[in-house]
Amino acid sequence: MRLDNERESNNIEDRRGESSGGGFHLGAGRLGIGAIVLALVVSYFTGISPSTLLNLVSGSASPPAISSSAPAHKPPANDEMATFVSKVLADTEDTWQVIFREMNHAYRAPKLVLFRGATQTACGTGKAATGPFYCSLDEKVYIDLTFYQELKDRFHAPGEFAEAYVIAHEVGHHVQKLLGISEKVHAAQERATNQAQANALSVRLELQADCFAGVWTHRADRMQHIVEPGEIDQALNAATAIGDDRLQQEARGTVRPETFTHGSSEQRVRWFKRGMETGQPAQCNTFDTKKL
Ligand SMILES: [Zn+2]
Repeated sequence: MRLDNERESNNIEDRRGESSGGGFHLGAGRLGIGAIVLALVVSYFTGISPSTLLNLVSGSASPPAISSSAPAHKPPANDEMATFVSKVLADTEDTWQVIFREMNHAYRAPKLVLFRGATQTACGTGKAATGPFYCSLDEKVYIDLTFYQELKDRFHAPGEFAEAYVIAHEVGHHVQKLLGISEKVHAAQERATNQAQANALSVRLELQADCFAGVWTHRADRMQHIVEPGEIDQALNAATAIGDDRLQQEARGTVRPETFTHGSSEQRVRWFKRGMETGQPAQCNTFDTKKL
């Protein structure tokens, strides 16, 4: 990617120097131990991530704690990977600012937390094993950069643009929060009568985040010419590699579409492309389409 002229974001919080302690941090007391245990149990049986469940639980129980108690650290200047992430984040800020202005909305940039192993979030303990994620309660994207190694080695999806796509997807979830979409979906999931229904909603949410990542690609490239020839394929490759069908095939040797929470590889690629080709968030209405 061409990011030399790109500024760095002020919204990076580097927690990699902190010890994660391994266990749950309940000091903040925002959620009782009961809620966390329940989320873990439900998560075990349903496959929904505990953080998603805690999101649902705490969403109605207590006001969000936007600020964290610890002071935010900036990453060291000579940290190439952190600089890369920071520049990509800055570009999402500039790009979504413009798009939101067009929609007569104000864009509030998310924070991006770099962590190692595990870290405390307003949605419960974030673990590197779940991959990068977004917590709508504190409006932060969380990423353990070793995921990029995994993307290369385990998912065979190397390349800077694949790495940028991962961030753009999580920022897509932040856009959904700002537009009030995630809230509606979570409410609908609570009303869902069975797990397959709730999963289907999750798939729509995820595919929309992919589409929003595509919108960012379209706009950022038009504004800054950051994408180099052939790089789009890296993102498509990453989207293919982390589709639910591919992951399930690898993990269990079978594919069960009703348990999908992110969509198939083909769907993820198609919605990303749709955002990328149109550059219009309105084209990303995965909730109002029969064929996903
Ligand atoms: Zn996602």
